Amino acid sequence: MKFVDAHIHLSDEEYSGCIEEIIVKSKDSSVVALVSNSMDLETSIRSLKLAKQYPGMVYAALGIHPWNVNALTEEELRQTMKLISEKRQNKELIAIGEIGLDCKYETIWDKQLMVFNEMLHLAEKLDLPVIIHSRGTTAKIVEMLPSYNLKKVLLHWFSSPISALSKVVENGYYITEGPPTAYSNGIREVVRKIPLTNLLTETDGPVRFFKQPFEGKRTTPAFIPTVVKSIAEIKNMELADIAEQISKNFEEFFTIKLN
Ligand SMILES: [Zn+2]
Repeated sequence: MKFVDAHIHLSDEEYSGCIEEIIVKSKDSSVVALVSNSMDLETSIRSLKLAKQYPGMVYAALGIHPWNVNALTEEELRQTMKLISEKRQNKELIAIGEIGLDCKYETIWDKQLMVFNEMLHLAEKLDLPVIIHSRGTTAKIVEMLPSYNLKKVLLHWFSSPISALSKVVENGYYITEGPPTAYSNGIREVVRKIPLTNLLTETDGPVRFFKQPFEGKRTTPAFIPTVVKSIAEIKNMELADIAEQISKNFEEFFTIKLN
């Protein structure tokens, strides 16, 4: 059986001293691919480096996270976009992410919108998949996206509104769900409703989870088999069948072949 973590921040400083250990742990748990998402220029560079270091295991998604928009200078935005364009042909770079809009950061709303637009235009131009953060903004984002010519869209940690799910499916978008699948009724409802062909798994590590069975543990891709087990329970299907379909989704979404 193969598992995948389509959304982790391996480039986060919290992981800097233990990358090797995380890779080993992932492999021991049959997690065969990790997508290292980025927050800014610095973590974008680090994600690429990690993907080069662990070919066929770590892949890079580069971009500017809405939380990092406030401190972002024009020069950093320009350089990040240049980096993405220059590395487009490298097989390590498989998406633009994590990008998006966050309703909790309303004070910099206009700048968030500007950066998100730039990132979406770049994805359009370079024909790259996008990984989107949409806390409190999912309905707005789902409404915005059709005006771009994007082939692959992934809404990470999709939680609400449930009413936006039909649009997600209709437009062929994907969502990722992670550890909350094991304990959150809201997320379990999303997993129940989303067709398995539109679903991928994530940890969003180093984000911590304070409910069982993850409480007190550092978040690593070794959580993924538990997440898939929860999906199997919710969908009332065999674990192996769920794992196989999610691996297929991963290959199709990122246009890569899993090892
Ligand atoms: Zn994230």
